[in-house]
Amino acid sequence: MPFLSRQSPYDVCIVGSGAGGGMAAYALTQAGATVVLLEAGPLWFSTENSRMLEWAYQSPRRGAATKDHEFGEFDGSIGGFELEGEPYTKAPGTRFDWWRSRMLGGRTNHWGRISLRFGPYDFRRKSIDGLGDDWPITYDDVKPYYDRIDRLIGLFGSNENLPNEPNGIFQPPPRPRCYELVVKQAADRLNVTCIPSRLSIITRPLNGRSACHYCGQCGRGCRTNSNFSSPAVLLRPALATGKLTIVPNAMAREVTLNDRGLASGVSYIDKTTGQDQHVAARVVVLAASALESARLLLNSSSSKFPQGLANSSGTVGKYITDTTGTDMAGFIPKLTDGLPHNEDGVGGMHLYMPWWADNKKLDFPRGYHIEVWGGRDMPSYGFMGGIQNYPKGGGYGAGLKDLYRHYYGAVVGFSGRGEMIPNDDSYCEIDPDVVDRWGIPVLRFHWKWSDHEVKQVKHMQDTFEALIHEMGGTLMWKKPGPDQDYGIAPGGRIIHELGAARMGADARTSVVNPNCQAWDVKNSFIADGGPFVSQADKNPTWTILALSMRTSDYIADQMKKGAL
Ligand SMILES: Cc1cc2nc3c(=O)[nH]c(=O)nc-3n(C[C@H](O)[C@H](O)[C@H](O)COP(=O)(O)OP(=O)(O)OC[C@H]3O[C@@H](n4cnc5c(N)ncnc54)[C@H](O)[C@@H]3O)c2cc1C
Ligand code: SF4
Repeated sequence: MPFLSRQSPYDVCIVGSGAGGGMAAYALTQAGATVVLLEAGPLWFSTENSRMLEWAYQSPRRGAATKDHEFGEFDGSIGGFELEGEPYTKAPGTRFDWWRSRMLGGRTNHWGRISLRFGPYDFRRKSIDGLGDDWPITYDDVKPYYDRIDRLIGLFGSNENLPNEPNGIFQPPPRPRCYELVVKQAADRLNVTCIPSRLSIITRPLNGRSACHYCGQCGRGCRTNSNFSSPAVLLRPALATGKLTIVPNAMAREVTLNDRGLASGVSYIDKTTGQDQHVAARVVVLAASALESARLLLNSSSSKFPQGLANSSGTVGKYITDTTGTDMAGFIPKLTDGLPHNEDGVGGMHLYMPWWADNKKLDFPRGYHIEVWGGRDMPSYGFMGGIQNYPKGGGYGAGLKDLYRHYYGAVVGFSGRGEMIPNDDSYCEIDPDVVDRWGIPVLRFHWKWSDHEVKQVKHMQDTFEALIHEMGGTLMWKKPGPDQDYGIAPGGRIIHELGAARMGADARTSVVNPNCQAWDVKNSFIADGGPFVSQADKNPTWTILALSMRTSDYIADQMKKGAL
């Protein structure tokens, strides 16, 4: 397949091939544009490269994590919180961890596939509680695009008519597993809403892709393309148009300008040779992930834009957020000695708990959802978290084997994932003293959780404890207290970083307009999580995809009208 054919200047240059960049490549090539896509990592297609079908015993590591595969040896990711030769720095006192993908498709190859629409309230939170900012667009502006990606990519779920968890165009969800039924019973008794999860995994054939066969190995990348990844679902059809050129191992350095102050293309380093290259295009779309795109803008300074490109408002790098998170697991005696049976299902939860409570009755704003885990998935290194942590755990020989059989599947876990409100102390900027291996200045992070988030996480831990007790269980480890901020994960750890190039109705306080078009440079767009005004208590990727499709429609329309 010809991945690189020189047709410069292209109509559009896209930087990054993850959720945002993949969707832009798909939508723009469908609209007839010639597109060049610069991707910092190598080519990777799950059909050829996934290790979905390997058994743990086939490797001497038994699936244990490696430096390059932090989520396990077989995981379909190339990237991590630390990348050799690509540092980032933190202001004194800051704890922030930045996950970066370096592969075709970015994080969509091994993401959790939880695919939640933002609800109507999520676009206008300031109007509701006075905190943060409203988006300049509403749910109704995005709804047609959510509908289109539901049909194009596919996901399972159930229509529940909840006020802020919109219905979708869902395929049938898989049935709950045994432990999930126990969770559901407890949640019902505590009046915590518990419904089928919404994951972009197809349970029925769709657009030439086969339905899931329930091997439970989604994180390795799906060889049958039954879950969503950008290369399989978006880039393959984009390549089939003959309009897409993918340049792998191309690390974008900066957006270049012409003498009219418009973007003229992107300069990049060919990582295979170390040489600087340039690609010319009429329009530039940044989709390198929210913070990496901000880095590119800040590094694209010039005499016309000394503060960096699209940064006349001074807000590039500001208003960054991550999802709040904390976890707890419970040992549930009634799940011990379970009858051996196949519980594989999809690679992810079959049930989840969307936000159910009323913030007016609580001491913190904004909600969270609860992700559920447990069961009897394929054993590998670190299986069950260490038998010594169970009551009467440990031993040798036949007794040890019996203990494993006794406890297998008796632990159920909960992960809270909630909404952070942007604050003035959480932002990124260029570190004036540090560059990466190619001499590109790196980001320096500043981060602080406010009381809002800490109180929310305390509520998560209290809810987990109540659920575990309701199931007749005990906590697997000590509940974190105020000295640990109730166990809130460090900023960046939930890997939902958003903001840094927020959209707005006013060019003085935002980077892009409601079409994700830079106010200052009309042929530059952002198609990742950068333009998000707020987090919501939802995982962000379905909204990144919807906004990228909406932006791409706008670009195609403007190009046809000769306005770009
Ligand atoms: C383990 C894990 C689980 C997750 N689970 C979920 C989930 O269940 N639901 C959900 O909604 N979200 C989830 N996420 C988050 C989700 O993956 C991201 O929101 C989404 O992939 C972001 O898309 P993106 O296009 O902005 O960035 P990415 O997917 O990160 O893609 C960015 C691409 O840009 C490339 N790039 C970066 N810099 C440059 C440069 N200078 N030049 C050229 N290319 C560059 C990178 O190599 C990468 O391929 C998860 C993430 C992880 C890691
Ligand atoms: S569980 Fe389904 S979607 Fe996930 S890897 Fe297996 S077949 Fe693919």
